[in-house]
Amino acid sequence: VSRFEDVEFGTPIEVHIVRASYNADPFEKKVDLGVGAYRTEEGRPWVMPWVYTVRQQLAHDPTLNHEYLPFLGCERFTRCANELLLGDNSPAIQQGKVFGIQSLSGAGSVRIASEFLCKVMKYKTVFIPVETWENHYRLVTHGGFSDVREYRYWNTQTRTLDFEGLIEDLSAAPANSIVVLHPCAHNPTGCDPSHEQWDRIADIIEERRLFPFFDIAYQGLASGDIDEDAWAVRRFAERGIEFFCAQSFSKNCGLYGERTGNLAVMLNNPDKIEKVKSQFIVIARSIYCSPPSQGARIVTAMLGDPKLKEEWKTCLREMTNRIKDMRKGLKERLDALGTPGSWDHITQQVGFFSFTGLSERQVQLLREKYHVYMLSNGRANMCGLNTKNLDYTANAIHDIVT
Ligand code: PMP
Repeated sequence: VSRFEDVEFGTPIEVHIVRASYNADPFEKKVDLGVGAYRTEEGRPWVMPWVYTVRQQLAHDPTLNHEYLPFLGCERFTRCANELLLGDNSPAIQQGKVFGIQSLSGAGSVRIASEFLCKVMKYKTVFIPVETWENHYRLVTHGGFSDVREYRYWNTQTRTLDFEGLIEDLSAAPANSIVVLHPCAHNPTGCDPSHEQWDRIADIIEERRLFPFFDIAYQGLASGDIDEDAWAVRRFAERGIEFFCAQSFSKNCGLYGERTGNLAVMLNNPDKIEKVKSQFIVIARSIYCSPPSQGARIVTAMLGDPKLKEEWKTCLREMTNRIKDMRKGLKERLDALGTPGSWDHITQQVGFFSFTGLSERQVQLLREKYHVYMLSNGRANMCGLNTKNLDYTANAIHDIVT
């Protein structure tokens, strides 16, 4: 007999189920469009060449040790991360309005930020887009929020941004509501607001006194350009709108398992920074004490070395170009097969994901009949496609749609 007799299963997490079913599937031609990670043309994870270079440097650096990092992480890392986010010559950084907290990647940053906003700021309400990364709801509720509301983002009919719906919902939000925003490569829809639309969103956020909480997990992987992809966050900074931004290096540096991320905070009164930091120290200390060092060292070394940074940018372009080619390849095949419906959205969407518009039933059929795995809401990771499985995948989609 065990004291754990009455423990029930936790709520299942879909990406894990999809991953486990894919791994257990012995079928040779199986296709993994489920996991949210980059894959090469060979279908494998990619350690970028510059990462090997930095790892060599670190391995031979006699000054490095394995002491604890400070509770809020490595300051050189957070400074580099903030500059990547806001630009090297960011006036907000120069005016001392920005600081960073090294946290456990994007997810960990969202979690500690939620605790701060709930417990310290005593904010009550969080708005998340429909659709969004499925973990947002879990992170903000476990971070303390019970009032999580949705704002419209996706128009299923037109398969584009529901901008009118978004504006209407945010215009009706109570003051001090937190608004979760994806600055680029929106997960799962692959559809981002235009510059003009971001300005309009900023207007509403200012007018309604809402708090923007950005989550940028794909900087450099939407357009292939790190500056363009951070445009929205930079615009808010330029307009003097205070914000949080959870920043992940999982995807754009391929450092998934290293848990490398930053929570960038912009506030208009630099005198308050030490007090705000002290509250974050309490939160970090109560969950994990201090963040891991290896990933932060790798990113800091790269961002601080102009040559390595150029190499990284080349890798970002290579990844985005490969994804674009796969999008084009899939759309062309579906068009050529005469698959019913329009598939323009596959090439219009940006980032890793295509929000295919396939129904839950169709996704299930794809899995059962063809061993093609994606999320039940129709989200397909375009990185899982390659020249060897494009025909197979297109034919499978064609068959279950017709
Ligand atoms: N935000 C979004 C929108 C994401 O898609 C992801 C990864 N799927 C994350 C945050 C977090 O990733 P990580 O914790 O690995 O940085």
